[in-house]
Formats: sequence, C-alpha cells, structure tokens
Amino acid sequence: MAFAKAERLKLLPPYLFQEIDRLKAELISAGVDVINLGVGDPDLPTPRHIIQRLQEAAEDKANHQYPSYSGMNDFKVSVAGWYRRRFGVELDPEREVLTLIGSKEGLAHLPLAFIDPGDLALVPSPAYPVYHIATMFAGGHSHIMPLVRENHFLPDLNAIPADVARQARLMFINYPNNPTGATAERGFYERVLDFAREFDIIVCHDAAYTEMAFGGYKPMSFLEIPGARDVGIEFHSLSKTYNMTGWRIGFAVGNAEIIGGLGQIKSNIDSGAFNAVQWAGIAALEGSQDCVVEMQNIYRERLEVLMDGLNSVGLYPDVPKATFYVWCPTPAGLSSTEFTSLLLKEAGIVTTPGSGFGEPGEGYVRMALTVSKERIEEAVGRIRKLSI
Ligand SMILES: *Cc1c(COP(=O)(O)O)cnc(C)c1O
Repeated sequence: MAFAKAERLKLLPPYLFQEIDRLKAELISAGVDVINLGVGDPDLPTPRHIIQRLQEAAEDKANHQYPSYSGMNDFKVSVAGWYRRRFGVELDPEREVLTLIGSKEGLAHLPLAFIDPGDLALVPSPAYPVYHIATMFAGGHSHIMPLVRENHFLPDLNAIPADVARQARLMFINYPNNPTGATAERGFYERVLDFAREFDIIVCHDAAYTEMAFGGYKPMSFLEIPGARDVGIEFHSLSKTYNMTGWRIGFAVGNAEIIGGLGQIKSNIDSGAFNAVQWAGIAALEGSQDCVVEMQNIYRERLEVLMDGLNSVGLYPDVPKATFYVWCPTPAGLSSTEFTSLLLKEAGIVTTPGSGFGEPGEGYVRMALTVSKERIEEAVGRIRKLSI
C-alpha cells in the first residue's frame, strides 16, 4: 500500500545527514575508530543528587497520576526562584511559567498558537531546525534572517523589509547560539525589543545554553531588559545545563498571554511532564550548582585543545564564550559537505556540515565538544596530518 503523505511532510527539507550517516556506519563496520563531534548531546552523566531525587519521587504514588497540564506548582515556583537568583527577574509562577517536556516540545508547539496559514515568522539561519519546521507545520512561512560572521552571527534587523516586519507574527532568536557558538549582549536585546514593539511581533528567545559558558562569562536573559515581558517569552532546558537530555524537561517563561496560548495548545496535545521528573528538576535548580561549574570547566579544557588544534592548521574559528560548539570555517575551496566528508574519510571524525543548518551556514562545519579531552587530542592529531 502507498499512503499519500500530508503536504507538511512533503515540505520537510531533505535529510542532509543521510550520506554522513551511511559513511559513518561503513567506516565503523570497517573497524575505523570514529570520533563523533557531530551530536549536541552531553556525554557526561546526570549529577547523582538529581538521579536520587527521581528515584524517590518515582516511588511516591502521588506522582503516578496525570500531572497538571501547565506543570506542577512546586516546579514553577522553583523556576521562578532560579530566575530571581540567576537573572534578577521576578516571575509569577502561576501565569508566567510553563513546564515543558523538553524545550524542543514548546518551541515546536508555539507556532500553532500564534501562526495562521500564510503568516510570517522571522527565523534565523543557520539555526536549530525546529523554528522553521514548526512554522511550516502551522502553515506559516519563514523569512530568513541570515547569521553571518561579519555581523557576529546576530540577525541584522535593519535588513528586514518593513512590509515583511509588518506581516511577521513571531521572531525566533537563540543566544548563546547553536550552531555558531555566538553570544548576544544587552544592546542586541534592546534592539530586538524596540523592533518587536514597533511591528507588534512576539519574540521567542531560545535560551538553552545560558548556563554553558566559560571563564566567568554569564549570558543574560532577554527578560532582563525592562519591557521585554511585554513582547516575549524565553525557553530554557535542563538538558544541557544538568546533562539531562534524555529526561525531557524544560520550561518557558515570560509574557502571560503568550505562555497561556502555548499552554492551551499543549493541554490539547500532551498531558504534562511526569511529576517525578519535575521533582528531579527542582533538585537540579535548587541544589548545589557545583555540578554546573564542573561541567563548564570540562568543556573549557576540551575547547582549548580543539581551538589550539584548529588554529595550528590555519582555520581560526571564533572562540566561543558559551555553548559546546565550535563553528569552524572550512579550508579554502572546500564546501561544508566536502570538508565534512574529508574529515570523516581521511580522519574518522564526524562533524556536521554548516549548510545542514541552513544555506547561510555554508562554509562552516560544527564541531561539538561532546567527547573526552583525550579523544579531542586524538582528533586534533589526525587533523594536523591532513593536507588542508
Ligand atoms: C539542545 C537544544 C535545545 C534543548 O532541547 P530539549 O528539548 O530541551 O532537550 C533547544 N534549543 C537548542 C538550540 C538546542 O541546541
């Protein structure tokens, strides 16, 4: 039988990693010792005290029933407390916080609440693919905001035509940024707020990497800008901060109306996050943050090894102040996919072609610091032997 797929599935971009996955599998079965810098998934385990809290909470039958749609009150209060301590921002746990089953879930559902067929969303590129795809699933169109090195990988708001801005309902931004590793400062967020006010646009800030930063650098929240709450919401994840990608827990905070709209969609699709996981999330947010500092130190050591190696072969990526990604320019004359294939075939190193995150990512590959320092040293040794 052949089942006709819905248009939205036919509209999905081709799977760019297919060829890489095939090559990788081939090399592994041929016995090659493959080093995987391809996936943005922490290799370190979830801290002990968080696992223990889940174990206790899983035993409690009060947690076995359906959770509350918008999240457990204790978790939302805990999020508000973390926001106050970390960013100095006050939130109403009842109206301005929503528990998510991972932040990807919330990002993917948001357009269903605010995008009608034919509406526009302003979407960065290269980017986490969810922004564009979720817009498309809601029947909307993306207006691409290219992120280029000359503009520090920030969208150039002046380049957005006024008629496009007037039609746009949503703008997605993400700092510290995946895949470029770029960070944003107060001035940028202020410009975004002014722009959103002028054109009546909802700002959706994906802040998954605010805690993964180096050398004492503290990324700020969009909500620290006075008035930001009038136009936007911010998405956070426990995935990267506490090595909890498999647990599926995150949250959205900010404008009560936007939070309410997203909650309305969610209550008709899912039935909330497992309460035991929310209790473990409370343990993460309220417990000692030493595990976060340790995580930052580990990535910083790995980063130094990789940066030294890439600089020694003349590639000179920007030094990221946050995230666990290095956005590495390709050697002269090689496209993203050509360099990715060369690294894989000649050095057994898996990376992600920048063009896979959107056309403006052409000319780069993304390397994730998700293997040990020793493995990164090994990767660097192999890269030095390539003639590039
Ligand atoms: C990893 C990541 C997320 C987090 O996803 P979860 O669903 O919370 O695991 C969100 N946005 C970006 C850009 C990411 O890289």
